[in-house]
Amino acid sequence: MRKLLIAGNWKMYKTPHESTSFLTKFLPLVKDNTHAEILLCPAMTCLPALIDAARSTSVAIGAQNMHWKDEGAYTGETSPAVIANLGATHVLIGHSERRQYFNETDTTVNLKLKAALAHSLIPIVCIGEHLEERESGLTNSVLELQTSLALEGIDPAIAAPIVFAYEPVWAIGTGRTATPEIAQEAHLIIRKQIAKSLTPELAASIRILYGGSVKPDNAKALCCLEDIDGALVGGASLDPQSFADIINHTKG
Ligand code: PEP
Repeated sequence: MRKLLIAGNWKMYKTPHESTSFLTKFLPLVKDNTHAEILLCPAMTCLPALIDAARSTSVAIGAQNMHWKDEGAYTGETSPAVIANLGATHVLIGHSERRQYFNETDTTVNLKLKAALAHSLIPIVCIGEHLEERESGLTNSVLELQTSLALEGIDPAIAAPIVFAYEPVWAIGTGRTATPEIAQEAHLIIRKQIAKSLTPELAASIRILYGGSVKPDNAKALCCLEDIDGALVGGASLDPQSFADIINHTKG
């Protein structure tokens, strides 16, 4: 029922030319893929070139961030209207690097989530606990709070496109991964909270991705459990072969 989604977050890497040459090398490597949706989220300045290059392929292109207002005096920001107009289909919201370095909060995540839905962009809402929170036994309450604040005031009637990404902060870019048991347990907590905040039906259909040092050799074990519906991949999505291996290893 929930199709696997494997998304690459390129962070602040790659020029427009590097983005399109990645795609040229990558497409033949995933030519037999039908089991997963594939998404690439390049830097904002690479969106036009990559969207153009990915047209008529099965690879979707998304942004890594956006403002929640349609327009205004917000120097340096990009509006959801512009992102949608460029042809992007998805947007990452509340990535832990945005929360850590750019003051993203649960309040702005909620505003951005509403704006994404209003512009028919598929939002991928990133949540996850810090190491100290896990070690203090706070993981479940942190995940419940982040999920419920993200979904506050969201009308269930328009919530179906929402995707969550569980990304334990201690596993991002560190080479440390959650065990499959830890990841599955966290995803179940999030799914239960989605049922409370929205509806049980939406909780059953909304996809929850795992993110945090996903690599070709751990992708299958981490991304294909009962409540895990794919992956958000940082470092390992920068190389066409390793990103394709992640996708191909999650088949079946
Ligand atoms: C990310 O950027 O969302 C991420 C999970 O990064 P990495 O795979 O490098 O840990």
